[in-house]
Amino acid sequence: EAKNNGRNRYALYHPALKQKAVHYLTRERELHHALIKDEFLLHYQPHFSLVTKKITGVEALIRWQHPVKGLLGPAEIIPVAESSKLIVEIGNWVLTEACRQIKQWRTDGHGELRISVNISIRQLADKSLQQFIAELLYQYSLPADSLELEVTESCLQNELIYITSLEQLENLGIAISIDDFGTGYSCLSSLKNLPIHRLKIDQSFIKNIPHDSNDCAIAAAILALAQKLNLQVTAEGIETYDQADFLANLGCDELQGYLLSKPVSPDLIPYLIKKIPDRMKAFNS
Ligand code: C2E
Ligand code: MG
Ligand code: MG
Ligand code: MG
Repeated sequence: EAKNNGRNRYALYHPALKQKAVHYLTRERELHHALIKDEFLLHYQPHFSLVTKKITGVEALIRWQHPVKGLLGPAEIIPVAESSKLIVEIGNWVLTEACRQIKQWRTDGHGELRISVNISIRQLADKSLQQFIAELLYQYSLPADSLELEVTESCLQNELIYITSLEQLENLGIAISIDDFGTGYSCLSSLKNLPIHRLKIDQSFIKNIPHDSNDCAIAAAILALAQKLNLQVTAEGIETYDQADFLANLGCDELQGYLLSKPVSPDLIPYLIKKIPDRMKAFNS
């Protein structure tokens, strides 16, 4: 190690930086390997509609079945993948697997079920995204409204670059949600100018509802804004009936969170579609 450092002036002056770069390269290679070895999988978290009182959709969330470390979450995958074009390959895998799975559920009798897929900014910038999605929908003969894409507000900062991408997706008939709404820097004009269908209120604003009056005010303001702009709203991170109650009273459209279910493996979803509405009946009355 000392000998190595002596040979490498860069490392001598920026050891931390070099270590970080090497670490990222190693992780990138591991991720590439994981993709080839088919070690990624998707877990799914239900969306409960306060309008129909049913499970209307599920969000696909990536996991990595690591041969040594066990089941890893997106934090171990996405940041490294986003630092390279690997995110496009992994993202395409996620889209393909999500479409395969939603087709199966729809064929198995859940004909209206929708699937939401998280999309990184680098995927939106990729010119072949629309074509890729169009071909997937064709391959699985899925209607465009069976797929929803979730983008974060950082994707809206440079409106001009992403507006074309988002408009092409809208032309396909795909709905776009803004994920983690309220935590980024989107100016309100982008809500007006971009083809957005849904806001997902970030869980940080939900966490202390109904005890924190500021968080309650923020959630209420987001819902009022969304209603005026004709946008659907999903509240993320719902863990208690009190939170669900508060949001239902404000006219929130959908709930997502541990109160309904944690993200689960796909084989549990048909059971949850039946079970959750039963359990929520007590809440409704
Ligand atoms: P997200 O899209 O905002 O997903 C919601 C996250 O909140 C999930 O974490 C979910 O497990 C967690 N969550 C849901 N309900 C609750 C709750 O009631 N309480 C608490 N404390 N947490 C809850 P997860 O699965 O670790 O995903 C983290 C993030 O990773 C996602 O945030 C999303 O931004 C990203 N991600 C996941 N899968 C993908 C993917 O395929 N592609 C991309 N680009 N990003 C992904
Ligand atoms: Mg999401
Ligand atoms: Mg979110
Ligand atoms: Mg998040």
